[in-house]
Amino acid sequence: MRCRPLPISAAPVPDELLSGWLSRLAASNHCEVADLLTHIGIDAKYAAALDHDIDRLAADRISAAARIDPRLVPSMTFAAMPEAQMRLTAQVPFQNCPNCADGGLELRHWRRAWAFDCQICGDRLLSKADRKNGAAVSEKLVDRARRGARVLERIAMSGSACQLRRAMRAVTFAMGLKALRGDPFFTLQSPRPNIRLFCLAAIAAAQSRPLVKAALCSMDIDVYARVALLRAYEKEPRLLATVDQIAQRMRLRVGPSTNSSHI
Ligand SMILES: [Zn+2]
Repeated sequence: MRCRPLPISAAPVPDELLSGWLSRLAASNHCEVADLLTHIGIDAKYAAALDHDIDRLAADRISAAARIDPRLVPSMTFAAMPEAQMRLTAQVPFQNCPNCADGGLELRHWRRAWAFDCQICGDRLLSKADRKNGAAVSEKLVDRARRGARVLERIAMSGSACQLRRAMRAVTFAMGLKALRGDPFFTLQSPRPNIRLFCLAAIAAAQSRPLVKAALCSMDIDVYARVALLRAYEKEPRLLATVDQIAQRMRLRVGPSTNSSHI
């Protein structure tokens, strides 16, 4: 099927995400994305899925209608990637850059759970809820979370299953402390202020002697820390037993008055 090119084209910017660019393209042509896709012969109900799975025919139709290089369309999507990266890549926007998101711009890297600062302007990426709360987040937590995000990126790129497991265990532990349940990969994409930062900070904390840190948290038998430990290690009873042993040894060594260490 050949369709007439759209009256107005819009050049994609580097790292732009396909769905965001389609929105800009539709707005430039004074229509909705659904109308634009229908016009070029693509079922509009799959609009959001195009970012993750686009076939050659759809890519060709889009590039012909928008009069852009056909190779650009697939480069704006998330091509096949290793499972860890896939699980750390959000299906829906959860953060963006307050500086660069004007005009509906949406960049690919903003969807990554490890993305922390905007690659274009360097500002910290924020969720909508973050923006509302402004300065409510402590700088210390932000710094720790940024460190955790760097660790997470390194792990995602390395493909190390062992390191990924350790990082996700830290996230599960942090979730336990916040009395949250669910998928740790998904929690890292949380738009709720502090939840994502707290979980990223936990990844940074777990890089140095994670068992000892976990044991320190459990030393005053704070009920939340204990529940969190159980959740983090529920599938690894041997690890939990080791944590308990370390905690016991430390309790004997330093006495019962030591405060717990928080992430
Ligand atoms: Zn920016």
